[in-house]
Amino acid sequence: IYDRIDRAENKVRAYITIIPREETLRYAEELVKRFRDSRVLPPLFGIAIAVKDNISTKGIRTTCASKMLENYIPPYDATVIERIKAAGGIIIGKTNMDEFAMGSTTETSAFYPTRNPWDLERSPGGSSGGSAAALVAGETSLALGSDTGGSIRNPAAFTATYGLKPTYGLVSRYGLIAYGSSLDQIGPMARNTRDLAILLNIISGYDERDSTSILIQKQNYVELMDRLIYDEPKLRIGIIKELFEGSEDSVKSIAYKAVDKLCGYHICEELSIPYTRQIVAAYYIIAMAEASSNLARYDGIRYGLRKSVENRDWIDVYSDVRTEGFGYEVKKRIALGAYVLSIGYREMYYIRALRFRRMLRDKFNEIFKRFDAVVSPTMPILPPRLGEFIEDPIKMYLSDINTVIANLIGAPAISIPIGFSNRLPVGLQIMSKPLNEPIILYLSNQLE
Ligand code: GLN
Repeated sequence: IYDRIDRAENKVRAYITIIPREETLRYAEELVKRFRDSRVLPPLFGIAIAVKDNISTKGIRTTCASKMLENYIPPYDATVIERIKAAGGIIIGKTNMDEFAMGSTTETSAFYPTRNPWDLERSPGGSSGGSAAALVAGETSLALGSDTGGSIRNPAAFTATYGLKPTYGLVSRYGLIAYGSSLDQIGPMARNTRDLAILLNIISGYDERDSTSILIQKQNYVELMDRLIYDEPKLRIGIIKELFEGSEDSVKSIAYKAVDKLCGYHICEELSIPYTRQIVAAYYIIAMAEASSNLARYDGIRYGLRKSVENRDWIDVYSDVRTEGFGYEVKKRIALGAYVLSIGYREMYYIRALRFRRMLRDKFNEIFKRFDAVVSPTMPILPPRLGEFIEDPIKMYLSDINTVIANLIGAPAISIPIGFSNRLPVGLQIMSKPLNEPIILYLSNQLE
C-alpha cells in the first residue's frame, strides 16, 4: 500500500496526513506481538484503513480540512477508531474532504482538492472524496467516511467504489466532528460489498457516549448477508420515477441497465415520490441551521485557531479567528443557518423544513410497507470537472437530491458501481427502511 501511495499520491492527493511507513511497521509489529498467543486473529488484523479527517484519532492531527483545526491533535479516539484498533485494523492516514464536510467535490478543502483517479481533471466527489480516491487508487484497503447528505455515497458513485450510509444511530458519532448532528452518520467505504459488511460489523453497535445511539443487540452483517445470499429471497423493489427522470441521459441509461438486471429476478414496480422540489431546500435549511450552531464553538478560546488575546475584546478575537479560520463555503452556511434560525424567519424556514421532514418520513414509512428497497441513480450527473461546482453552487446543491432523502428520514442507503459512461463511473443507490442494512448488502452483492 505504501508503494501505491508513493506512486499515486502526488497526482491524486487523497490524504491530508499519512502515517510514516516506519511508524506503521512498528505498529504492525506490536500488533503481531499482541495477538501472538490468540488462537483466532481479530477480523481486521493487519488491514490498512484510511480515515476521513473529521473523525478524531488520538495523537493524529484531525483537521476537518480547515485552517481552523489545522494543528488540532485530538486527545482521544472516536468510538469507531477504538473499535477498529481493537479489531486489529491499522490506521494509515487521514483523508482529504470538503471543509467541515460541506461540499460535494472535496474542493472546499482549505488545503488542496483531491483528484479523481479515473480522470485527473475531475473531482472524486465529496465530501469524503479523499477516502474514495484512496480506495480506487489502491492507497488503502478500507476507508471510513461520513455522510450528512450524501458524502459517502456521492464519492463512491464518482469513483466506482462501494459506500454505505448506515441507519441513523447505528454507528456512534462520538468523536465525529459535527456538521448537522441530526443527519450525520459515519459509514464504511470499500471496493466490494463483503468488505463493507466486515467494516460495518466492527463500527456499528450501541455506544453510551452518543445519546442518539440505537439500543439494539449487535448484529453480524456478514452472516445476515450470507444467509440472504443463500436463501435468495425475491424482493419487492421500487424504482423511484422522479429520480430517474431527473438524471442526465448518460447516467439514466446505465442505471436502467442495472435495474433490468435486478428486475430479472425481483419484483419491480415504478413508484412516485411527492415534493421533489422541496427536498433539497429542506435539507439545506436543516443542515445549515445545525451547522451554524455546531460551529459556534470555534471561538479561538475553547476550540480552533489561536490568536493573541492580550488587550483585545473577546468579540474581536472571535471575529478574527473565524474570518481567518473558516473558508467561504463554511462562512456562507453559518450565515444562512443563523438566518433561518433567527426570530421572525424561524417559522418561515426552519420550522417549515422540520415539518416537511416529518412528512417525508411518514411518506417513506408507507413506501417501505410496499417495498423492501427502493433504487435510483446515486448522483444525477457524472463526476464534475474541477471548478465546475465552485462556479455554480446551486447546481452543486441540486445534485444532492437523490442522496439527502436517506439522511432526512434516517434510513440506510448504499451506492454501488454499475458501469461507466464515457469512461466515467456511474453509481446506483439502494435505500431501505431503518435497520434493513442486510437487505441492502444482499442486493449490492447480487449486482456485484
Ligand atoms: N453535499 C452535501 C452538503 O454539502 C452533503 C455533505 C455531506 O454529506 N457531508 O451538505
